Amino acid sequence: MPLIIITGLPTSGKTHRAQQLQSYLSERIASLPPAQQYRLHYISDQTLSIPRSVYDLSSVPAHARSANSSEKDARAKISGAVKRVLSPKDIVILDGMNYIKGWRYQLFCEAKNVSTPSCLVQVAGGGRERSREVNEKRLRRREARERGEVVEGEDEEEPYEPGNWENLVFRYEEPNPMTRWDSPLFLLLWEDEEARTREVFAQIWESICGEGRKVVRPNQ
Ligand code: ADP
Ligand code: MG
Repeated sequence: MPLIIITGLPTSGKTHRAQQLQSYLSERIASLPPAQQYRLHYISDQTLSIPRSVYDLSSVPAHARSANSSEKDARAKISGAVKRVLSPKDIVILDGMNYIKGWRYQLFCEAKNVSTPSCLVQVAGGGRERSREVNEKRLRRREARERGEVVEGEDEEEPYEPGNWENLVFRYEEPNPMTRWDSPLFLLLWEDEEARTREVFAQIWESICGEGRKVVRPNQ
C-alpha cells in the first residue's frame, strides 16, 4: 500500500527507527489474512549503494551548487526504486534524510499517482549535539580502522565528513505538518522507549492500513 517517508538530521537515529518499524510492520502484516497481506520494502541510500559523498557540497564548485548533479542523480535513483515497487499492495519504508521539502512533495505525488497514502516519520535524535557525537564516533572508528586497529562493535556505517555533516544540518528543511505532503507527521524521539515507540508505530499502521485511512485518488 503506502509510502512511509523517514526524515531527520544526519546520524539522528533514522536507520535504527526504520528497522524497528520494519519488524513491527512485518508482524502486523503476518497477522492479516493471506489475501490482504502487503509486501514490505525497505529502501535506503545503503540499499541503493549511494555514498555519503553525494551530499557533499564542498567537492562542488560554488557556481554549480544549485545543480549539484551527484545529489540529483541520487534522488533520481531513489525515486526510480520507489516507483518500481509502490502500489496499493506494497508498503515502502524510505529511510533517508529526505530533507528538501520539494523532494518530499515529489514523493507525496508519486504515492498519490498510484492512489496510495503516504506519511512522514520524523526522527529527532535528542538534539544536534547527540547526532554530531554519533558522527564523530564513526569518524574515530574509521580512523582507527585506517590505522589497522581492530575495531570492536556493531556500528559499521560510514561517517559523514565533518563539513558535509554541518552543511546538511544547515540545509535541513523542517517538516511542516500543515502542508499536505508533510502530513500526517509522526514524531519519534531518541529517548522514546519501547512502549511509546510501539504506540507511534500503531498510529502509523492505522493511518496507512487501518479502517480510517484516507482514500487517495490521483487527481485530488
Ligand atoms: P542515521 O540512520 O540517522 O544516520 P542510525 O540509525 O545509524 O542514524 O543511528 C546512529 C547510531 O545511534 C547507531 O549506532 C544507533 O544504534 C544509535 N541509535 C540511534 N537511535 C537510537 C536510540 N533511539 N536509542 C539508542 N541508540 C540509538
Ligand atoms: Mg541511516
